[in-house]
Amino acid sequence: MKKIALLYNKELEKYKYASYHPLKRERIIYTMQRIKKYSKGVYDSFAFSPATISDMSLYHDIDYIQYLYDIEKDETKYVPKKYGIGTTDNPYFKEIFTTSSIHIGAVNLAADLIVRENYSDVFYFPGGLHHAKKNYAWGFCYVNDPVYAILRLLKYGKRVLYVDIDAHFCDGVADAFKSDLRNKKDLLILSFHESGDFLFPAEGYVGEKGSINFPLYPGTDDYTYIINFIKVFGEVFYRFKPDVIVAQIGADTSKLDILSHINLSLKGYLNVIKNINEKKVNKIWLGGGGYNNKFTSCGWSSAFRLVLGDITVNNIKTNINIKNIKSEKAFNYAEGIYKFLEKYILSQI
Ligand SMILES: [Zn+2]
Repeated sequence: MKKIALLYNKELEKYKYASYHPLKRERIIYTMQRIKKYSKGVYDSFAFSPATISDMSLYHDIDYIQYLYDIEKDETKYVPKKYGIGTTDNPYFKEIFTTSSIHIGAVNLAADLIVRENYSDVFYFPGGLHHAKKNYAWGFCYVNDPVYAILRLLKYGKRVLYVDIDAHFCDGVADAFKSDLRNKKDLLILSFHESGDFLFPAEGYVGEKGSINFPLYPGTDDYTYIINFIKVFGEVFYRFKPDVIVAQIGADTSKLDILSHINLSLKGYLNVIKNINEKKVNKIWLGGGGYNNKFTSCGWSSAFRLVLGDITVNNIKTNINIKNIKSEKAFNYAEGIYKFLEKYILSQI
């Protein structure tokens, strides 16, 4: 029997990046509205306390966290471009510390609910901010909540599989554990993303140390994505045998997305979710990227309802089981990546 939790804090609705910025808070608001309107299954909603400065300094440098606090309390302390804040990607905004403390508070509770209360699935859609670095903001991310979720689960003695399906490579998470002796032993990082030759952050190549990477060619569609995901994720799960999965389910792999060049349909995206959902271990689900508000809120609320048991992938039109490759180049590229992983990486797990 599943025990599902949804974490949310309405304070997040107050923040706003600069108006030009592609990351819109509306995608979260619409996701929560859709969940409220359409979900039929049983789940528990949790409000939660923001993390303290001391909690927030577990991974990020205390000086960086203190700076976020100071510039929220007193705008005159803000220095453009210090700690990566004030750039086009990472603008200063008024609730910069409050939102950051909410994200870390949420994932700490998520790990506690999984371990102490035996929740099977805990969702936090505003999280999944997988680019933030130890001491600076990067790639629209100010604090790296997936790192905190992983650290807390490791502290509880759990074996963690982090799987990231955002269109962008999870460089912040990979960096955090690059030299950590628990990486590859108690933690495995698996990322499917558009190749760094074509998309930010220009990393995540196959064979890079610290994470198992599956770079995808622009134009990758449902068929190519799904057959490779099933093979690689299945193999990684089978060999590593995690206690918990932390899934970052960024919805910017959609063909409607304005930033990436991956061409998943809603059905393709949900097939990936279905594969993760089928693994019988507890899971923390984090949002991540998604720059088409409609697709992102549809994708995330449908992912939630799929886990809840309200819908199945077959309810969604179009059939990806039929071999229908729109980009031969992307298919062949993925085949090469799979062969490399199969030969040099997967067998080492
Ligand atoms: Zn992304």
